[in-house]
Amino acid sequence: MTHTSHDAIVIGAGVIGCSVAAALAKRGIRPLVIDKLPDAGYGSTSSSSAVVRFGYSTEAGVAMAWEGHLWWREWADVIAPATPDAIVEFINYPMLMLDFEGGHFARVLPHYDKLGIPYERLDRKQLQARYPMMDLHRFGPPVPIESDDFWKDPSEYLRGAISTPDSGFISDPMLSAQNLADAARAHGARFMFRTEVVGIETTGGRVSGVKLNDGSIVGAPIVVNVAGPHSSRINELAGVRDSMKVTTRPLRREVFIVPAGDGVDFDSSGVMLGDEDTGVYFRPERGNNVLIGSTEPECDELEWIDDPDNYRTTLTEDEHQLLVLRCARRIPSVGVPQRKRGVVDLYDVSDDWTPVYDKSDLPGFYMAVGSSGNQFKNAPIAGHCMAELIEAVEGGLDHDTDPLVVTGPRSALPIAMGTFSRNRDVSTASTMSVLG
Ligand SMILES: Cc1cc2nc3c(=O)[nH]c(=O)nc-3n(C[C@H](O)[C@H](O)[C@H](O)COP(=O)(O)OP(=O)(O)OC[C@H]3O[C@@H](n4cnc5c(N)ncnc54)[C@H](O)[C@@H]3O)c2cc1C
Repeated sequence: MTHTSHDAIVIGAGVIGCSVAAALAKRGIRPLVIDKLPDAGYGSTSSSSAVVRFGYSTEAGVAMAWEGHLWWREWADVIAPATPDAIVEFINYPMLMLDFEGGHFARVLPHYDKLGIPYERLDRKQLQARYPMMDLHRFGPPVPIESDDFWKDPSEYLRGAISTPDSGFISDPMLSAQNLADAARAHGARFMFRTEVVGIETTGGRVSGVKLNDGSIVGAPIVVNVAGPHSSRINELAGVRDSMKVTTRPLRREVFIVPAGDGVDFDSSGVMLGDEDTGVYFRPERGNNVLIGSTEPECDELEWIDDPDNYRTTLTEDEHQLLVLRCARRIPSVGVPQRKRGVVDLYDVSDDWTPVYDKSDLPGFYMAVGSSGNQFKNAPIAGHCMAELIEAVEGGLDHDTDPLVVTGPRSALPIAMGTFSRNRDVSTASTMSVLG
């Protein structure tokens, strides 16, 4: 049984899948978006911390993030002609990278300088004056909570920090996917929810559609894998997983929200920080709260997941204590509340925590995967880049030997898509963490 045929099929209606769908539909390639959940953005997108920052270890990563933030700032234009009742907001807060020997900032600053990304260097005195709630001692390298060193009195200080004033976060990650879904629909895309893709169809050595869980087949000459933490499974169904140099796998993560504490107004004077020195990232969360996630310090054992449909979905006491106490070293007013508040979800992590935005060895089968906990911010521009890539490859470009460079429509910055190749060498510049 074959359903009607479509110009393309997008597997996954998360924020990146909806963005790919909108960008394809805008070009007249009208996709069918298939998701097994009830609506757009219900997958890992719904748990995103939605931090928009620019500090990646690759030049293309920085260019993409800067370009992406311009899309969030012009959201009504991005999703036009859709005019949904509610749209997301870009909430501006500076983002800091700490200045200390061996810090991530040293890999990032050359890219900022080359691409013209605005930043400020703050010495310790300036940093303390701006953010008096922060303790600027050096606490790292991070250690497990059981270690005596966890509580040692620090004697050294950080040198300061690099601040990007244009950073921020997005008010509602699930709504952002739904806004993009509305934009895709307005351009002619269709959505099919509560439907699972269980097979990838091929004809004559090319993708020809997908098989659904009811046994039916939907035809299309282009299929895009944007299945988030299920990406590796979909690549396996397509028979392309083992031919890729870079693999992806799900990682379980917990994110917590705690009160900023007495005497601190984190809503008006808060800041975002990727704090490799304590092992957490944090940002303000409305209501004078702090949202805290991990930066995967070397001492922590990571919880890799074999089956993305079967993992612990409750917050754990151990991770709560660990992340909140690590954050409390930097912001001493933060205490560990009795009741845990936060989310549990999966990252789709690649070998070097850099995404794969690429074609595959199966003609017509593409992928936007391995988002590694750091690609929410890039979703709008990732859709555009994937649509450019698909058009170029379908038009005859050999992207493997002559990689596409996309020019950011809003920033005019070059985005070298070869950086996100499935066959790249694993990047040695990567932090091997969510920082990318
Ligand atoms: C806790 C957490 C915090 C994060 N914080 C940040 C942050 O601060 N900044 C940032 O930039 N990024 C962040 N990220 C990463 C970012 O949120 C993700 O990269 C992004 O949301 C992924 O979007 P997606 O569309 O690729 O995947 P998803 O949102 O996971 O969507 C994939 C969809 O595919 C569907 N699907 C899977 N398999 C099938 C199938 N066989 N058939 C049909 N449908 C299928 C799923 O149901 C799902 O809806 C975070 C992620 C998490 C989990």
